[in-house]
Amino acid sequence: MQAAKAEKGVREVTMARRIEPSCKICRREGVKLFLKGIRCSGDKCAFERRNYAPGQHGRSRGKVSDYGLQLREKQKMKRIYVVLEQQFRNFFKRAVRKKGVTGETLIQFLERRLDNVVYRLLFAPSRASARQLVSHRSIFVNKRCVNVPSYLVRPGDVIEVRKREDIEKRVKATLEILKDRPVPVWLELDRDSLIGKVVKLPTKADAGLPVEESLIVELYSK
Ligand code: SF4
Repeated sequence: MQAAKAEKGVREVTMARRIEPSCKICRREGVKLFLKGIRCSGDKCAFERRNYAPGQHGRSRGKVSDYGLQLREKQKMKRIYVVLEQQFRNFFKRAVRKKGVTGETLIQFLERRLDNVVYRLLFAPSRASARQLVSHRSIFVNKRCVNVPSYLVRPGDVIEVRKREDIEKRVKATLEILKDRPVPVWLELDRDSLIGKVVKLPTKADAGLPVEESLIVELYSK
C-alpha cells in the first residue's frame, strides 16, 4: 500500500534541505557533483580551484576504513539527488523488494523522480532549481499539474512546462545556456514546445553517476 502510494507520488513530509554550502560538499566528496547549475561548468567552480577537502586537515586525509568508503558513497548519492536519509532509505527498501540488481534499481528509482527528470530535460540548471520548478506548480505530467518532486515517472509519461510567459522564458533561457549538454537517451525533448517524454526506464549507465552503488548496498545490508 505504502509502495503504491509512493509510486503515484505522495508529497514528501519534509523537503530535503541542504545546510552546508554546495561547493564544500563536492570538495568533501572529492568529486564534482554539479549541485550549483551553470556555475559548475565554468571556471568559478570551487572544486576546480581547490580539489581537496575543506577544513584544517583537508589536504592530509588518512586511510579510510571500509565503512568510511561505504558511508561516503551513500552520502554522495544522497547529495546528488538532494534527498533526506529517510527518503533514501525508503528507496533502498523498495529496491530490495524489486527483482534485479538492488544498486541499479535504487539508481533507477532516484532517476525517475520528477525533479531529476526536469533537470535531465534541461528545464532547470540543477536538481535544486528543478525541485523549485516542480513545487511551484510549473510542471505538468500527462496534462496534470504535479507539484511533488518525488513523483516517479513511467515510460510514456509526457512532461510539460506550464504555458505561462515568464516560466517559458526562464526555461528557454536555461535550455539555451545548456544547449551543449545532452538529454539522456531514456528521455526525449522537444525544445520548441518545451515538452519531454519518457521513452524507457533509465539504466545505471544512463545516470552516469560518480558513485559505486554496490558499496551502498553493502552498507545497508549490515
Ligand atoms: Fe560542485 Fe563546482 Fe558545482 Fe560548486 S561549482 S557545486 S564545487 S561542481
